[in-house]
Amino acid sequence: MTQVPTIRLNNGVEIPQFGFGVFQVPPEETAQTVRAAFDAGYRHIDTAQMYGNEEGVGQALAESGLSRDEVFITTKLNNDGHSFDAAVKRLDESLAKLRTDHVDLYLIHWPRPREDRYVETWKGLEKAHQDGKARTIGVSNFQPHHLDKLLEETETVPAINQIELHPHMQQAALRSYHERHGIRTEAWSPIGQGKGLLDAPELGEIAQAHDKSAAQVVLRWHIQIGNIIFPKSVTPDRIRENKDIFDFELSHEEMQKIEGMEKAERLGPDPDTFAR
Ligand code: NAD
Repeated sequence: MTQVPTIRLNNGVEIPQFGFGVFQVPPEETAQTVRAAFDAGYRHIDTAQMYGNEEGVGQALAESGLSRDEVFITTKLNNDGHSFDAAVKRLDESLAKLRTDHVDLYLIHWPRPREDRYVETWKGLEKAHQDGKARTIGVSNFQPHHLDKLLEETETVPAINQIELHPHMQQAALRSYHERHGIRTEAWSPIGQGKGLLDAPELGEIAQAHDKSAAQVVLRWHIQIGNIIFPKSVTPDRIRENKDIFDFELSHEEMQKIEGMEKAERLGPDPDTFAR
């Protein structure tokens, strides 16, 4: 009951449904923060070339004493790497920083549709997978029309689409697209970056009933709808708190109450226009 469940992806690889995200963790604090996550039992780390902290993840991994196959590591191709060759070359750079010969998951970070090279870039990820440098490949921030193009023009269905998803932005249409095509949903900013969302009275009531925090209630909601999540914190107490969500269950009514919080409100950029 208190174990982190795993999910079998469309190529058979197993991913822990719960992990640790390091967006906005300063590079010089990353090794110690990831160490705190390992100490709390996390075995899945989500980083990206854009975050500038892959070295810290690599350092924590090397010093952890954990064997490589005990930890699931994700990184993401940076936005200036949209081409076949760059997708492969950038992964080699990431592997050196992460001090490993493969990642468990490699994602295209954003589709950049105005540049419109994500199909070619995806073929670079397919090559990295064939070469054994990425056990699984996927995308992030793709909308249905971007996914349609990959499905029509390439050989591999992405295993994952990592998208902004929390009670104020529930992405029902995209989640059902994923389900139809065997793509699993990863939810970024799962607790809405800890901002206004966690003060919602609906969450406070549910939290009180279970003697849990609002953050734990939201994280539990994600687990129960099948999302893969990796909340971020640099505070050891919160790192432990966020993982302590496998000893209670939300009722059907509580799940529905959270479903009723939908506002279609993004915290991050629109994938169709974001081009940084
Ligand atoms: P999050 O929803 O995980 O919120 C993190 C923030 O919430 C922390 O900085 C802290 O201020 C607060 N917090 C953490 N634990 C708390 C607790 N128990 N109680 C109260 N407040 C708490 O937001 P995130 O970091 O944006 O998202 C998680 C991960 O998703 C990232 O670290 C990254 O790995 C990934 N991500 C991916 C993309 C993408 O484009 N693919 C974008 C953003 C984030």
